[in-house]
Amino acid sequence: MKRRTILTLLPALVAPRFALAQPSRPVVATFSILADMVRVVGGDDVPVTSLVPPDGDPHVWEPRPADLHALAVASVLVENGLGLEGWMSRLAQASGFQGVRVVAAESVAALTMTESARRITDPHAWQDPRNALLYVRAIEAGLAKALPGRAAAFAQRAEAYRQEIAETDRWIEKTLAPIPAEKRRILTSHDAFGYYGARYSIALRAVQGISTDGEPSARDIATLIRQIRREHICAVFVETMTSPRLAQMVAKESGAVLGPAVYSDALSAPGGPADTYLRMLRHNTAQFAAAMAAN
Ligand SMILES: [Zn+2]
Repeated sequence: MKRRTILTLLPALVAPRFALAQPSRPVVATFSILADMVRVVGGDDVPVTSLVPPDGDPHVWEPRPADLHALAVASVLVENGLGLEGWMSRLAQASGFQGVRVVAAESVAALTMTESARRITDPHAWQDPRNALLYVRAIEAGLAKALPGRAAAFAQRAEAYRQEIAETDRWIEKTLAPIPAEKRRILTSHDAFGYYGARYSIALRAVQGISTDGEPSARDIATLIRQIRREHICAVFVETMTSPRLAQMVAKESGAVLGPAVYSDALSAPGGPADTYLRMLRHNTAQFAAAMAAN
């Protein structure tokens, strides 16, 4: 309802901004993880803003008037795709956005998952660093299309970043290597680590489904608690952007401990433990490794 009100007010909100269009048009990313990738590739050549802020939830974002302004003057819009930002198409259209639209996950081999007995696409592809390499290619191409004069600089930064991502991927493999197959189990509050689990051979269980707006039934919770006990899972992880209530209850009932915060769909605020994409991967891996060793 709030969203509709904002979109109805659109002409009045956006019109004055067009008259004041700034010389360096910003690149808009839908959420903080993508914004970080764009900042690395864009360097000083482009100002970057994120619609959903650090610690915010991109599944259920309510666009604000400021988002319309941001998109109306943006040169590039970078979104994840794979159904993550259900609110995006309407917002882009309403804002009159006319720049280059980049779907970062467009060349990813998407995984599917079952939610409420339906097969749906899992949008959290960035949790596999090999997919991030594809994200960076898409971002690089989009920036070069919008600013062809800076294409060489984008290409150079993107190549250096891809090497860093590949190095982080190798570090994760090495960090998890001592953990035997039977201990490779993680329980999280929100089902956001499917790609991570597929990449590093970790079985995942989640309290909530793939989106953050559904509530599991009492029967689902009871099944999960039995599973935790049977599989000797010792820790329940809560992503920073989700409510800890259900995870706390499951931890209490199953005898597992509540693990430290991990980051799935949002970075931490600057200066926090996961304020870049690569620091997020390392932070999560360190927490998961410690918990799995105790399983
Ligand atoms: Zn998510």
